Amino acid sequence: MTTFSDTIIDWHHQHGRHDLPWQGTTDPYKIWVSEIMLQQTQVTTVIPYYERFLQRFPSVQTLASANIDEVLHLWTGLGYYARGRNLHKAAQQIVNDFSGEFPRNLDDMMSLSGIGRSTAGAILSFAFSLRHPILDGNVKRVLSRVFGVEGWYGKSAVAEKFWLLAEEHTPNKKIATYTQAIMDFGATLCTRSKPSCAICPLQKSCIAFTENRIAELPSKKPKKPIPVKTCQMIIIQNNHDHVFMLQRPPTGIWGGLWSLPQLELDTDIKTSLSEDFGLSIDKIKIGQVFRHTFSHYHLDIQPVYARFIDNDYSKNKIQDTATAWINFNKTVELGLPAPIKKLLIATNNK
Ligand code: SF4
Repeated sequence: MTTFSDTIIDWHHQHGRHDLPWQGTTDPYKIWVSEIMLQQTQVTTVIPYYERFLQRFPSVQTLASANIDEVLHLWTGLGYYARGRNLHKAAQQIVNDFSGEFPRNLDDMMSLSGIGRSTAGAILSFAFSLRHPILDGNVKRVLSRVFGVEGWYGKSAVAEKFWLLAEEHTPNKKIATYTQAIMDFGATLCTRSKPSCAICPLQKSCIAFTENRIAELPSKKPKKPIPVKTCQMIIIQNNHDHVFMLQRPPTGIWGGLWSLPQLELDTDIKTSLSEDFGLSIDKIKIGQVFRHTFSHYHLDIQPVYARFIDNDYSKNKIQDTATAWINFNKTVELGLPAPIKKLLIATNNK
């Protein structure tokens, strides 16, 4: 065992997190769900989602046989919905290709939807005590600072350097403890903007600290300006206070979630809704523009409120897309993107 891993494990013994809901188990299913939810998401945000999810889907079998709408509904508000779709797909892979048992080798684990090398390493070490390095954002930050690794991780030569270091410093024993310890070390001590160097047990050997380079390590991704896109979201209500919704295609932004008709800003709303869905509308009212930010662009949303003028709403054309008139109170049971949910709640409270 190297000095580095000894120090991290000793630190964890006294200062690490020991009571998170997904700790104290070696059930690979529970560990997997937590690891996927924790990607890009804070522990405090994840806890209630994790508990609700496990209550509804207590096993890989229950998840595999669930309807994707229900899975995405439980994911509503957690963001990065591809994670929820991949979780569902991987559960089906485990049931169909691995007889319902989690694989125990890295390649098989990485063949599952949504499981990359670091997540696979975490599941294998937590569930089966197998020695595999992990390299999530917290671990990269710690390694980069302690060992002075420069360069953006998105470049393959830099990524290779990080994996070599992670491999070298992963101990042969106490693998699950070390994995949790280094995650906690990065999440609570060597944090992104205000690391607690004054009480850090690695201070003397840490290159970032001794060379006063904490702010510059790890190296950031070269910046490109985030583009701004715009759209109109049409909230069409009928006389029964139902709202017209459509399910998005399974891939891409908000894949598989229920949303509203979305049009380019300069599109003629009446013509477009009539041509695309056979809907006649009137009483058009423009709402306040608001911004939703994705990881790679901003979306400025212009809400437009309209009323459906034909009481026989069974007459609307059904396209390839799934469309439905949905009672406002029933939208809570659907997988909705966060800004659409916000818009519908605001509309319902008017
Ligand atoms: S000394 Fe500071 S920067 Fe270095 S590992 Fe410790 S907390 Fe992180």
